[in-house]
Amino acid sequence: MLTNVEHIGIAVKDILASNNLFTKLFNVAPYKSESVESEGVTTSFFKINSTKVELLEATSPDSAIAKFIEKRGEGIHHIAFEVDNILLEMQRLEEEGFVLLNKEPKQGADNKLVCFLHPKGTNGVLIELCQERV
Ligand code: ZN
Repeated sequence: MLTNVEHIGIAVKDILASNNLFTKLFNVAPYKSESVESEGVTTSFFKINSTKVELLEATSPDSAIAKFIEKRGEGIHHIAFEVDNILLEMQRLEEEGFVLLNKEPKQGADNKLVCFLHPKGTNGVLIELCQERV
């Protein structure tokens, strides 16, 4: 079951500059910065009450974030939904005809197991499912 929007992911070219920008915008500093080497990204997370925003900067030119920015420029990259059981949701969505970008949950930022749905099947919106790791 999807429970709520866990965070919104924004692709940025320069995460230090964007950390400053969003710190001014939200009037709060990021609570966490983290590199996810398998994804080729550096991330930082902001929390505004219960709303989280993730900034993502590519660490290599062939990471998905670098390709996204090259094609579409900076901007909203994905919307992440929290799920209570990622394996069950992945199975349900696959049966509904959605294309999963990874067949097994993988380690994401912020201590989450994640799975992405192909944006071609979701009106161009990259959807991330995430579940807190226990
Ligand atoms: Zn995310």
